[in-house]
Amino acid sequence: TPLLEIKNLHVRLEDDPDVEILHGVDLKIMPGEVHSIMGPNGSGKSTLSQVLAGKEDYEITEGEILFNGEDLSEMGADERANAGVFLAFQYPVEIPGVSSMQFLKAAVNAKRDFEGKEELDAGSLLKHFRAKAEQINVPFEMLKRNVNEGFSGGEKKRFEIFQMAVLDSVLGILDESDSGLDIDALRIVSDGVNSMRDGNRSFLLITHYQRLLDYIEPDHVHILVKGQIIKSGGKELATELEKTGYAPYGVNEAFAV
Ligand code: ADP
Ligand code: MG
Ligand code: MG
Repeated sequence: TPLLEIKNLHVRLEDDPDVEILHGVDLKIMPGEVHSIMGPNGSGKSTLSQVLAGKEDYEITEGEILFNGEDLSEMGADERANAGVFLAFQYPVEIPGVSSMQFLKAAVNAKRDFEGKEELDAGSLLKHFRAKAEQINVPFEMLKRNVNEGFSGGEKKRFEIFQMAVLDSVLGILDESDSGLDIDALRIVSDGVNSMRDGNRSFLLITHYQRLLDYIEPDHVHILVKGQIIKSGGKELATELEKTGYAPYGVNEAFAV
């Protein structure tokens, strides 16, 4: 079974039902696959990621989203996380007074609780964190600081990827459309994603620019324009876009690299 299956997804604004943003999106991600959705500004990329995160501003009027065959849209945000969906952008920017370590301990044990497993004690958690920190290249010192407080752009990215690793999420959804990643942050994200690719874990990379895909080789690339996937292909589609921009798809937009 597909890990994620989006079928004929129609989404409109909750507040303004006349405005439909996604007009029948189909997407199937098998375990271990890395998919990328690319598209010009305003095509609906962030809307799709917010709908996957369960944001209330949007209403699904048609179609469905299945995660491991189960209706994702019926699940709350915590439930999605516990089921193994990691949405990088869903987390609060800063959590004052909560250390990264405390935050992660709570998240890991909440997930274990959900899975009917026993909670890990402090020693086992620490061991787990150390192993993942080594894998993702996270300085352990960072975990003593409050969540995202005073983190640089690169540190925020490092912490995001680290969260996904310690939670052993099976689907990582990253929306890098508007975040203007510098080269360091790009490397952190791509090294993290690449180190987690293992034939089972899948990723959905939502990105405006082709740049990220210089570092992460996607199995499938989809072009989203005006709320519809108008073309799908392999990684060569991203290379092609880098040359042509979105002009062949009727979009006049400079394609900065
Ligand atoms: P992208 O991430 O591809 O740039 P978005 O999903 O942010 O595109 O936006 C797609 C379209 O939907 C845009 O026209 C945008 O203005 C509109 N839109 C998205 N979310 C909202 C919202 N909460 N309220 C009003 N319009 C929205
Ligand atoms: Mg936008
Ligand atoms: Mg966006």
